[in-house]
Amino acid sequence: MNHVVGVRAGEDITVGLVDGAKVRGPMRMFPEPGGAQGIGFEIQSMPMDAVAETVANLINDVCLEQNAAPSRVGIGFPGVIRGGVVEESPNLRQAKGANLSELLQSALRGHGLDLPVFVYNDADAMAAGIAATRQQLERLIRVWTLGQGIGFGRYPHTEDILEGGHIVVSLDPREAYCGCGGRGHLEGIMGHRAMRLRFLDLEPEEVFANAAAGDARCAEFEHLWHRALAAGTATAVHMQGPGKFFISGPDARFVKINLLSQYLHEMVTMSPLQGSVFEIVPPDPQLPVIGAAVNASRQ
Ligand SMILES: [Zn+2]
Repeated sequence: MNHVVGVRAGEDITVGLVDGAKVRGPMRMFPEPGGAQGIGFEIQSMPMDAVAETVANLINDVCLEQNAAPSRVGIGFPGVIRGGVVEESPNLRQAKGANLSELLQSALRGHGLDLPVFVYNDADAMAAGIAATRQQLERLIRVWTLGQGIGFGRYPHTEDILEGGHIVVSLDPREAYCGCGGRGHLEGIMGHRAMRLRFLDLEPEEVFANAAAGDARCAEFEHLWHRALAAGTATAVHMQGPGKFFISGPDARFVKINLLSQYLHEMVTMSPLQGSVFEIVPPDPQLPVIGAAVNASRQ
């Protein structure tokens, strides 16, 4: 059987053995769910060779448990990825410049596993996972991932830079909460980390709950948050054409589709570019794992 290992690494690490568009057997995660480690902190303080070592250990565990001999590894990682190198990763700064492909191949050889490793932007891996699990590998799939950072992924995979989270959606110089330091960025408004910086007294969950309860400051922000995502999407439509936009990630729970669609409609008025729709993808840790493996198998 021609299995491929799929990996998603970022705030945490998930590894699975992928067969076609399905994960075979149980996935392995770090930190382990229910474990004592703080979310995000563990990986953000790890040097990249330790991250590669951790991923290699999980891959080795999965192969041993399932008596599998996979042909290759696909890994999704946040940031600007080219040729296996993480050129920039604003929310995992230690990754900048790391040749993740080489680091992981070397760590795997320590387990006697000689496997080619292909690295993708994590949002691109999510897009591929959506395409594969919906049997839409022939379609253009675009997805926003809303978490600590904001990702924009597309399938089919290309080597083009697609840092959609850093699309400029505001000319206000005070908009400076983006993890990359750039002003006016989409992530500086929508990113989980950016929201915590903006509302030092409130968690993002409380901001949206207060907005629903009628708090004016929070309600104003909720509109800004949706306008920002509509603006980012409008830019994608104006550059690449209309279509379906999936929304995934932990903060997709805050999205009001009607409000978002209304704003997008106000921002995209040329008739050949209209007709885009949004769909929220329910949380599923398998999707980026499957997607990374699917991209690797088509490489
Ligand atoms: Zn930015």
